Amino acid sequence: MSSGNILEVKDLYLYYKTFKGIVQAVDGISFKIPKGTAMGLVGESGCGKSSTANAIMRLLPGNTYRYEGSIKLDGMELMDLTDDEFRSRIRWSEIAMIFQGAMNSLNPVLKVGFQVAEPLIVHLGMPKEEALERARDMFEKVGLAPAFLDRYPHELSGGMRQRVVIAMAMVMNPKLLILDEPTSALDVSIQAQIMNLLKQLKKEYNLSMIFITHDIALASDISDYLAVMYAGQIVEYGPIEEVLLNPQHPYSQKLLASIPRLRVDKEPEFLPGAPPGLINPPKGCRFANRCPSRMDICDKEDPEIIWLNKDHFVKCHLYKGG
Ligand code: SF4
Repeated sequence: MSSGNILEVKDLYLYYKTFKGIVQAVDGISFKIPKGTAMGLVGESGCGKSSTANAIMRLLPGNTYRYEGSIKLDGMELMDLTDDEFRSRIRWSEIAMIFQGAMNSLNPVLKVGFQVAEPLIVHLGMPKEEALERARDMFEKVGLAPAFLDRYPHELSGGMRQRVVIAMAMVMNPKLLILDEPTSALDVSIQAQIMNLLKQLKKEYNLSMIFITHDIALASDISDYLAVMYAGQIVEYGPIEEVLLNPQHPYSQKLLASIPRLRVDKEPEFLPGAPPGLINPPKGCRFANRCPSRMDICDKEDPEIIWLNKDHFVKCHLYKGG
């Protein structure tokens, strides 16, 4: 039965096998996204953010070693679907994704209008003229004049190409849009325009989103919830105001303290050390070697998820029994 959540992820694992050992890229993560809301997924490079997106999209590399858990879309368990069912019923039509650097991966020899129309032709068998008409409508929604349908990618600016990519992702009218660092390659002023466009689409389509970034300030611009990821695990999740204004996990606290503030007479803090490798990570808390609140138990036991209220959890021994 469907709940008020568009996505519920529970105990999701994605491990890769490499010649150096098993990489625990996504290690038992859980979160939920209420319908029509956006969740920012933040953390340092290599913490497993993109692997989380790939796990939800079931885009698994050949060296996948472990892929299990529960992913429910609008109440439907996606892990029960075969790969063919997932491809034909879910990927792009129900869950779409904008990959990091996608605007630079548009096909250089095809007109962008056709590239937006193509998923409709391929996945829905829509006649080309009708699909191009739908692409024209989508161009309007993302702020591109119809004349741009006949342009090639190299004839467009970076901001325009990113609008094309957003149109491609939206043309099948997905329920959930995953965006992986969608503005990182853009100038700051263009970045602001794209963020405004995304906020507008979210409102107009009641669209749910996962917004992946290493930039918490950017995530806070669009997100209703925030998930903080560290070394393959989500260490804190909750409503954005709660996590930003009152972070509970020592890593979230350090991450937020490292952001420069304009109106606060305080130097940004530096977080010393580095995350552990994801091959044979420590058996206790993965943040222990950098944590100012480290206790004996932190080196021995992987902390459990502790719910502070119905929407906010933290994965830290400090909150055990509290
Ligand atoms: Fe720090 Fe221990 Fe909490 Fe890990 S479990 S964040 S080491 S206090």
